[in-house]
Amino acid sequence: MAVETRTLILPAEAQRIVRADLGVLPAEPTRLHDLCGRVLAEPIGAAEDLPPFYNSAMDGYAVRSQDAGAVPVSLRVVGQVASGALWDRPLAAGEALRIMTGAPMPPGADAVVRVEDTGEAQGLVEIRAAATPGDNVRPAGEDYRRGDEALSPGTVLTPVRVGVLAALGRTSALAIRPARVAILATGNELIEPGEPLAPGKVRNSNAYGLYAQVLEAGAVPVPLGVCGDDFDRTLERVEAALEIADVLVTSGGVSMGRHDHVGRVLARLGEVFFTAVAQMPGKPLTFARVFGKPAFGLPGNPVSTLVNFELYVRPVLRLLMGHEQPDRPRQRLPLGEPITRKPAGKALYARVTLRDGKLWLTGPQGSGLWQSLAKADGLAIVPVEDGPPAAGTVLEFVPLA
Ligand code: AMP
Ligand code: MG
Repeated sequence: MAVETRTLILPAEAQRIVRADLGVLPAEPTRLHDLCGRVLAEPIGAAEDLPPFYNSAMDGYAVRSQDAGAVPVSLRVVGQVASGALWDRPLAAGEALRIMTGAPMPPGADAVVRVEDTGEAQGLVEIRAAATPGDNVRPAGEDYRRGDEALSPGTVLTPVRVGVLAALGRTSALAIRPARVAILATGNELIEPGEPLAPGKVRNSNAYGLYAQVLEAGAVPVPLGVCGDDFDRTLERVEAALEIADVLVTSGGVSMGRHDHVGRVLARLGEVFFTAVAQMPGKPLTFARVFGKPAFGLPGNPVSTLVNFELYVRPVLRLLMGHEQPDRPRQRLPLGEPITRKPAGKALYARVTLRDGKLWLTGPQGSGLWQSLAKADGLAIVPVEDGPPAAGTVLEFVPLA
């Protein structure tokens, strides 16, 4: 058994360290198609009224409400206006204009009677529902008025808000640029998917899981492939990675083995803040700053890799990208079954499904078992100081998506 020479730090302390002094990446002009999920870096004022003109909310007949206050009444149909067209002759007493949804109201009209409430024959329309001023019409600026602040800096651009930008006539906006995240898998044993397996080799799966996690976080993955277990090669690759990326994540090579070079490389190039966290899975987590940039040496066991990305890397990326709330919303939920194996002195991040309002283990919890994570809706956190929790114990639940 290897002698453990490093000190474990608590998960909360590790969280504090990785998030300290992060700053926010610079903003850049970004076209609408690239804005979803990004954080806005300028106030967006309405440069024009929305809608831009007084228009009909329905297909029907534009009328002067005083002509159609008592029904039934017949009005003379003077023509028609479709959306995109303009009718600028004022409506006179006793007149109606056939009008489509979104078409501008003719001067003098102040209401629209829905087509369902009318019958038209021989140039006359019978109005069967009484009109009052403002019925079925949309005033200019009803939605946003010119000069209004529509979106403020710091707003996360959801699909709806991208639509708002377009509605206000914008083609781009200033937004925090996405973080570029270099991904480097280490290990002499790694074979890429699609290549034939050889004795003693395993597939490089982590790099692909991490790639997807980076994308899901709204950042830009920079995949750097696989690096063998060699100090000099690892040093070169890490150095090159941090020249082009904002953040580095590596997988493997941070344990206590002779071939675990990542920790030593990070220490050579920058400052290492911690090398192990009191948690399971994912204890051998190294965090460093190299050239002022966060570098995460994630452990190689797939569950440890992906769980640590979720817990430590994702919030850092979100903070760098200007999100005020970097964490996924957590819930407190009861366990449906007991957890019998809880390591003393470490937090347990149990992989669980959410069923009937309760948390259930996904089966064997080994940190090499992809399946334990693949079946999970999220992680149930058993705090460091707690013993094995009984069924019904209420735990913090972190969703994984
Ligand atoms: P290490 O942290 O390098 O000691 O690796 C721990 C375990 O994770 C070993 O069983 C490795 O083979 C495995 N492992 C390391 N890197 C990867 C990877 N990229 N994909 C899948 N498994 C890996
Ligand atoms: Mg390794």
